[in-house]
Amino acid sequence: MNFEFTEEQIMIQQAARDYAQRELITDVIERDAKGIFPEHHIKNLANLGFLGMLVDPKYDGGGMDTISYVLAMEEISKVDSSVAVVMSVNNSLVCYGIEKYGNEAQREKFLKPLARGEKIGAFLLSEPEAGSDATSQRTTAEDKGDHYLINGTKNWITNANCGSTYIVIAQTDPAKGHKGINAIIVEKNTPGISLGPHEDKMGMRSSDTHSVMFTDVKVPKENRIGEDGFGFKFAMKTLEGGRIGIASQALGIASGAMERAIQYSKERKAFGKLISQHQGIAFKLSDMAVKVENARNLCLKAAWLKDNGKPYGTASAMAKYYAAEIAMQVTTEAVQIHGGYGYVKEYHVERLMREAKLTQIYEGTSEIQQIVISRALLED
Ligand SMILES: Cc1cc2nc3c(=O)[nH]c(=O)nc-3n(C[C@H](O)[C@H](O)[C@H](O)COP(=O)(O)OP(=O)(O)OC[C@H]3O[C@@H](n4cnc5c(N)ncnc54)[C@H](O)[C@@H]3O)c2cc1C
Repeated sequence: MNFEFTEEQIMIQQAARDYAQRELITDVIERDAKGIFPEHHIKNLANLGFLGMLVDPKYDGGGMDTISYVLAMEEISKVDSSVAVVMSVNNSLVCYGIEKYGNEAQREKFLKPLARGEKIGAFLLSEPEAGSDATSQRTTAEDKGDHYLINGTKNWITNANCGSTYIVIAQTDPAKGHKGINAIIVEKNTPGISLGPHEDKMGMRSSDTHSVMFTDVKVPKENRIGEDGFGFKFAMKTLEGGRIGIASQALGIASGAMERAIQYSKERKAFGKLISQHQGIAFKLSDMAVKVENARNLCLKAAWLKDNGKPYGTASAMAKYYAAEIAMQVTTEAVQIHGGYGYVKEYHVERLMREAKLTQIYEGTSEIQQIVISRALLED
């Protein structure tokens, strides 16, 4: 086993850390409070190659490995998960989905601008009646010979407004159940698409979340990814990688909160000494460090398995489950260590606590990760 990072991985980690600590931090509180989409930061990250990190350079991507992706996601998420989630959806759901399962024409037309960060992608699976149970798709993609006609509503879609390339999961043949579902690339400017209002969220308030309505949206058949009926498998396979992104986001939220708690405990005095010198606080810090280290190791292991062509579905579910759970615990303790100051925006930890909550919910709730993990344990 080799626990050392390569020079390139360290450079990528440093570039992400520099950007987060110098640039993202400057306006994160205001963007969060007002729900302002971080447009110029996304452009800057595109210029750094972070929106198509994992894509092969022949499709204009950065050709970086998944370990580097984990390192970059952690650094960006220490400061601003609303930015990190744009990176995560674009890289590990949309770019990965098209690169791995799309055809050459789709890679040329759709993947290249996404990998360059000129266009942003969105992944449209969830519906008002289909969240955890993604097989209950009500959005239909009716087969009309040379095109599909899409009707229905998707919920909670990250990048719905800033994005222009959608991957839509929809039911073509209800008689076939989940084997009748397709994944179809849809350009947002296609007639018949409309957006609900920006969701007023608890956390990640400046990320771009909307419902998306489809009314007789005509999409050429050539935009279908894979064979007819491959859509559900496509979604599940793509989410296996997506979970490494969200796990790394949860890791960053936790490690960011821990770093702030350590710093604060070395500045704040109570009962005549620094609070870090009270064993009750020092032990909280040690518990945080063990949890963060475990989460990081799970994320890196899932990334390593993916980079080495080995099955990584269970590992990514473990990483996502554990990192999300400890992000909630670590951020809650970070607020506690800050006392009253932890409860106001200026010290950042209350925002990190709000952000942590979402990592237990999206791209498969913690309970769904437990189902994935326990199924793997129990299968014959
Ligand atoms: C801010 C935000 C952004 C999102 N972005 C996207 C996006 O870009 N694209 C997209 O497609 N979706 C997105 N989602 C949707 C997200 O993936 C779903 O909210 C999530 O999968 C849960 O679905 P649900 O909300 O319908 O909850 P439900 O499925 O109704 O679950 C409710 C509760 O029941 C539990 N539960 C359900 N089934 C079981 C079971 N079998 N055993 C035990 N417990 C169970 C769940 O864990 C949860 O606690 C986003 C959500 C949010 C909030």
